[in-house]
Amino acid sequence: MLTITPITAFQDNYIWALHDQRHAVLVDPGDAAPCIDFLEKHGLNLLAILITHHHGDHVGGMPDLAARYSPRIYGPAQENIPGLTHSVSDGDTISISELDLVFNVIGTPGHTLGHVSYYDGDRLFCGDTLFACGCGRLFEGTPDMMLSSLNNLSRLPDHTEIFCAHEYTLSNIRFAKTVDGRNPMLLERELNDKARRSTGVPTLPSTIAQEKATNPFLRCHEPALIQAAQILLKHPPRDAVEVFGALRRAKDVF
Ligand code: ZN
Ligand code: FE
Repeated sequence: MLTITPITAFQDNYIWALHDQRHAVLVDPGDAAPCIDFLEKHGLNLLAILITHHHGDHVGGMPDLAARYSPRIYGPAQENIPGLTHSVSDGDTISISELDLVFNVIGTPGHTLGHVSYYDGDRLFCGDTLFACGCGRLFEGTPDMMLSSLNNLSRLPDHTEIFCAHEYTLSNIRFAKTVDGRNPMLLERELNDKARRSTGVPTLPSTIAQEKATNPFLRCHEPALIQAAQILLKHPPRDAVEVFGALRRAKDVF
């Protein structure tokens, strides 16, 4: 049976481990040490690594893990990441037969220009693109680019589970309340996720349905968010991209 375990790293990163009793796949292993601890403790062989983008907190553990386990390493063709064994782009398929997993690669540029996400029909590993109640900063891409990546993800089935790479949920909710404070689903989410964090439990995975209901960056077409953007911009936004850009800039300095 497939189990998905978050390995915590650095301040707030989650390295997702997908495994059965024998084999494992890691998503974005920024640090090798906690991964090696986990794999050794459970007697797992590392088959593959999936990389979403080139930032150090997502790729830093690759060299040590590669030297120790020689896994296949998949990552975005459009980014310069030394050590990949398989370069992937939007539309590609990855099979990990030992764990019965097949992933579709979805190009999700915005946080970085080559960022990709991995989708297996039930679960989405989206790195720093879509966060629980938030989205990644625009380090390399434009608002237009990021919004279309998020819109693509929002069209996945409602039940899709979202495994992002950071525990940012409570601070994202704090920001969301400043622009969508009358959303009852958001207030309910705050109670649930605060309770989880107070006992040290991850707030992830969330679902696409939950994100569409509460994540301001997936709600740029909603009247409440258009109005919030109008206040930030001091003029009526022209379109959803302008709404998104205003919200993202406000979050940057929140
Ligand atoms: Zn990043
Ligand atoms: Fe990151």
